[in-house]
Amino acid sequence: MLKVQELLQYSTVHEALLYEKLKGDKVRCSLCERRCLIPLNEKGFCKTRLNIDGKLYTLVYGDLSALESRPIEIKPFFHYWPGSTALTFSTWSCNFDCIWCQNHHLSKTKPNPASSSYSSPNKIVELAINGNDDGLCVSFQEPTILTDWAVQVFKIGREKGLYCCYVSNGYMTLEALRLLRDSGMDGFKIDVKGDAETYQKYCGGADVEKVWRNAREAKRMGLHVEIVNLVVTDVNDDEECLRWVIEKHLKEVGPETPLHFTRYYPSYKFHNSPTRVETLEKAYRMAKKAGVSYPYLGNVHGHGYENTYCPRCEELLIKRLGYTITRYKITDDKKCPKCGQPIPITGRPIRKRRFSLF
Ligand code: SF4
Repeated sequence: MLKVQELLQYSTVHEALLYEKLKGDKVRCSLCERRCLIPLNEKGFCKTRLNIDGKLYTLVYGDLSALESRPIEIKPFFHYWPGSTALTFSTWSCNFDCIWCQNHHLSKTKPNPASSSYSSPNKIVELAINGNDDGLCVSFQEPTILTDWAVQVFKIGREKGLYCCYVSNGYMTLEALRLLRDSGMDGFKIDVKGDAETYQKYCGGADVEKVWRNAREAKRMGLHVEIVNLVVTDVNDDEECLRWVIEKHLKEVGPETPLHFTRYYPSYKFHNSPTRVETLEKAYRMAKKAGVSYPYLGNVHGHGYENTYCPRCEELLIKRLGYTITRYKITDDKKCPKCGQPIPITGRPIRKRRFSLF
């Protein structure tokens, strides 16, 4: 067994950007809102940050668990660089403990610096450019965990003209969010798990208000935000919980922010049946009626509620089939071609994949 000091020889072990030194060689991590108090030689809740000699180190600096070019619609981002692809990457572990995690092979694996391999920020940006990707995305497990390294990648990526985004549970601190914004991150997809009770019961006692605060602040900072609510059978699929999410959405991020209701499938330690499509359709209609301009269904292949409709005249504006855009009718100045309603799109459509204009 290695002594903790010996871990410092590995490139993936790096002093953390966000923490506070405390008395008695303790540290407080300020990367996510768990704000773990970490004694000497111990790790925080996520097991990726270790106190060595009174300093906090990340154990996952540039340690990638997956790397793949993916369509932006899969995140899902529906109003952000439509049709583009992002070089997408992840590391290990998570600051949440959801028992239905779809990527548990990554999020439940703890890092091991001795068997890690380090990727440099320059190399990732180079791969994205050579692979003809339009952006960079941290996803698969919780990207907050990778922030110390991701901000370096984003700085270089932005200079080279790539967009930069996170697919996150939104539980980072405001300090971390500002750091990401300053590094060039401009796309932020936030998974909202349900109401306060859902977070207490299934997300290790996390505070849902911190997630909505980050969504609101991200909007204020000018980031592109989309909200996703994974609707899990007999967990957060009752009308009261759906209404709570819809009302919070309208209050904190406003009607123009897309809201996706995604279908759950059994995974990891949770085996309830997949979400009923009728429940998702009900959520969609409730959101629409309450005033959300762009509600969507996710994980229901070929459903008409995957499309973008004009909130004023109901014209079909973007037709999707799964993660592919098959028609795109929004004008170059981002308006409905029929009634002139402005449609919020960040970036521009990328026509590298098959879709027709008009
Ligand atoms: S990232 Fe969050 S869970 Fe991990 S050590 Fe820091 S405060 Fe704790």
